[in-house]
Amino acid sequence: MNPVTKNITFDVAKIREDFPILKRKVNGYPLAYLDNAATSQTPKPVMDVIIDYYSNYNANIHRGVHSLSQEATDKYEQARIKIQKHFNAQKAHEIIFTSGTTHGINLVANGFSAILKEGDEILVSALEHHSNIVPWQMLCEKTGAILRVIPMNEEGELIYPAFEELISENTKMVFLNHVSNALGTVNPIEKIIKKAHSVDAAVLIDGAQAAPHIKADVQELDVDFYVASAHKMCGPTGVGVLYGKEEWLEKLPPYQGGGEMIDTVTFEKTTYAGLPHKFEAGTPNICGGIAFGAAIDYLNQIGFENIASSENDLLNYATKKLMEIDGMKIYGVSKNKTAVISFNIEGLHPYDIGTLLDKMGIAVRTGHHCAQPIMDFYRIPGTVRASFSFYNTKGEVERFIEALKKAKSMLS
Ligand SMILES: *Cc1c(COP(=O)(O)O)cnc(C)c1O
Repeated sequence: MNPVTKNITFDVAKIREDFPILKRKVNGYPLAYLDNAATSQTPKPVMDVIIDYYSNYNANIHRGVHSLSQEATDKYEQARIKIQKHFNAQKAHEIIFTSGTTHGINLVANGFSAILKEGDEILVSALEHHSNIVPWQMLCEKTGAILRVIPMNEEGELIYPAFEELISENTKMVFLNHVSNALGTVNPIEKIIKKAHSVDAAVLIDGAQAAPHIKADVQELDVDFYVASAHKMCGPTGVGVLYGKEEWLEKLPPYQGGGEMIDTVTFEKTTYAGLPHKFEAGTPNICGGIAFGAAIDYLNQIGFENIASSENDLLNYATKKLMEIDGMKIYGVSKNKTAVISFNIEGLHPYDIGTLLDKMGIAVRTGHHCAQPIMDFYRIPGTVRASFSFYNTKGEVERFIEALKKAKSMLS
């Protein structure tokens, strides 16, 4: 891979050549894929890695002495190192392959059931995805720990002073997302991590929505756990990453028992393998892990500065154009946000808008976006959400706005 430099020209037409799906038609119209916060599309170089795996070295890893098994093991472990470097983890064994963000959060929540006591407190933010709420509720039920919620404001931002009031010596853990999938808000995680550490609370950051746009440095953040999913980063579904500080991963018990995660097994006593294998029971998504590494290479080749600046241009342009539509209400207007726009048009149901947009080839998401507490805060059942990626174009934004106007006139 070439080192990324900032002045590589960003040519969106050329980038789109890497994504065969962007050429297809939907309901007779060219696809405008604006649902990137739900999942991203997969570029050819990542697909090539998947085909190469199944064509040339498909084998189970870590156990075989034969050549295919060794090749697969090497490629899988190289992918782990790519992920380690990307997030700047100190050690490769601090990178645990998971099936995705949800799996990573459940792994950590389950581990803490052995650590928390009755009356301990856990803080979550009001901006969370259900996968960063439900596992902690289950943990509280198991341990008698208390869940407290950091409130949000009308702009869709966390109220930091309220966090300062909630946190205390009783706080053992703090969980929040780096970027909200429903609103796009970027949370001030640096400040929150520092403050949490001042009372010795551990911090887990759900990076699912941030990782495609922001390169997180886990050492600089000094975060205890950081989780993400490959499928939002131009990789395949069914694979993700849990970064954990070595000292925490050593402390947590294994999540699942099975092959690969043991050292020795007898019916009297089993001893566990060291990191990272302790948390990787069973045959993993080998091809997925290798493809995740390729997706990270792909994003880095485009460059995160290029990604941020192109997505930001799309966000600003789309926001300006949307605001010209009568009855438009955008939810989540933080100055610090990624290219996600959640909105409603007065008097219209988001589902109806989404359905009509689809008839014109435009893919957006409608509903509560797995974040019902945010919808409850605004007292709405859901929103229409358009989310942009670096491979989207200004032309697609224009088509989206035109289609939205048409849908509005059909529904009013
Ligand atoms: C997508 C997402 C999740 C869930 O990720 P999965 O890949 O479905 O496990 C969790 N949190 C946020 C913020 C997300 O955007």
